[in-house]
Amino acid sequence: MKILSINAGSSSLKFTLFELPKTDAIASGVFEKIGLKDSFYTIKYDGEKTRKEVYLKDHSVAVECLMKDLVDMHIVSSLAEIEGVGHRILHGGAEFTKPVVLSEDVIERISKYNELGPLHNPANLLGVKAFMKALPGVINVGVFDTGFHQTMDEEHFLYPVPYEWYTNYGVRKYGFHGTSHRFVYGEICKKLENEELKVITCHIGNGASLCAIDEGKVIDTSMGFTPLAGVMMGTRCGDIDPSILEYVCNKTGKTISEVTNDLNKKSGFLGISEISSDARDVENAAMEGNKMAILAENMYAQKIANYIAVYNNMLNGADAIVFTAGVGENSARMRKMVIDRVKSLGVKLDDNLNNVRGEYQKISSEDSTIAVYVLPTNEELLIAQDTLQLKREMGD
Ligand code: ADP
Repeated sequence: MKILSINAGSSSLKFTLFELPKTDAIASGVFEKIGLKDSFYTIKYDGEKTRKEVYLKDHSVAVECLMKDLVDMHIVSSLAEIEGVGHRILHGGAEFTKPVVLSEDVIERISKYNELGPLHNPANLLGVKAFMKALPGVINVGVFDTGFHQTMDEEHFLYPVPYEWYTNYGVRKYGFHGTSHRFVYGEICKKLENEELKVITCHIGNGASLCAIDEGKVIDTSMGFTPLAGVMMGTRCGDIDPSILEYVCNKTGKTISEVTNDLNKKSGFLGISEISSDARDVENAAMEGNKMAILAENMYAQKIANYIAVYNNMLNGADAIVFTAGVGENSARMRKMVIDRVKSLGVKLDDNLNNVRGEYQKISSEDSTIAVYVLPTNEELLIAQDTLQLKREMGD
C-alpha cells in the first residue's frame, strides 16, 4: 500500500513515499523556496536525483508538480495507487495526543494551536489543504510532534509560575520531537523484545531534545513550552535564566521579539563557537584546536549529560540510553564526550563499538551499568505507519 509522508514548512515541502509494510522509501524529495522566484525541487528515485527549477507559487503548485512527476517518472502508475497521506504537524496542544484523521473540522481545531507554533503549524496545515485538493477522497492523517509527550504527569509538565498562566493561557511544557522519540523507543523495545523498558532517548540533531520514557509513557522531556528549552542546540540556547531577556533588551535596545530571535537563531553552537551552527564544522574546528569550538563542544556535551543524569534519576535507573538524529547517529566523538560526563552512573562505551555511523548498534561496554545504543530515527516512516493504521481503523 503506497502512503505519502509529508513535512510542509513555510517555504518548503518534504515528501517520502512508502510502500508499506516495506520500510525502505520508494522515493523522496524536497520542494524549496516555495513562493520565491528561484524555487526548485529535487526528487530521489531509483538511485537517481532529479532537480527541476520551477516557479512554485504556493504549496498547492508544489503538490501539483509532485503529483504530475510521480506519474511521469513512473513512480506510480496512477495517482489512485496513493492510498493515504500522513502529515507532520508541530503542535496539537494538549488536545491532540494521538494521530488524527484530518477534515475541515479537525483543521479548524488544530488552528487554535497556531499561536503556540506560529512558524510551523500554519505551514503544516497549508500542506494538508494542498493534498486534500490534489487527492480528493484520500485519507489525510495528522501526526503531532507534541502528541507523544502528552502522557506526562502534571508535576512534570507544569512550570512553577502562577497557576493561572496554565489555566488561562496554556503555559506548560508540551515537548517536541515526539514522533522521533516514539519511533526510537518502539524500535529499541522491538530489538530487545521488551515492551516495558525504561529508556532515555537522545535526539541530537540541529534541534536537540531528550526524553525519559517508562513502559511507553513519557515521564519528562527537555524541550518545553517551545523548542527553545532544554539542552544547547545548533542555534538555540536551551535552558537559561529568563531574566536575561529583559536585561539584554534594556542593554541593547532590542525588542523582546528580537532577543527571542537571537536565542533561537544566534545562540547554541553558533553563539558560542562563532563559527557555525553545524556540529561538523564545530567538530572540525575543535580538532584543529580552536578554543571557542572546544568550549562549545564541552558545553554541549555537559548539558546533554546533565539531562541523562536527571532522567536516570527520574526513571529510577534506566535500562538503555539511545542516541539518534544527525549528531547522535553520526558523531562517535560527541557520544563519547557525553558518556564520559556520566561516568558516576557507571555508564561506559566500548570505543570500537562506538565507531559506528548511521546504523543500529549497541555501543556500551560489557561492564556498563546502562546499555547504550545508536539507533537511526525515521519519523517519516512512523507517520506513514500511523496513517495506514488509522486508515485500517476507519475501515477505509
Ligand atoms: P535537523 O533534522 O534537526 O535539522 P539533523 O538530525 O539532520 O537535524 O542533524 C543535523 C546535525 O547533524 C548537524 O549539526 C550536522 O552537523 C550533524 N551531523 C551530521 N553528520 C555528522 C557527522 N558525521 N559528524 C558530526 N555531526 C554530524
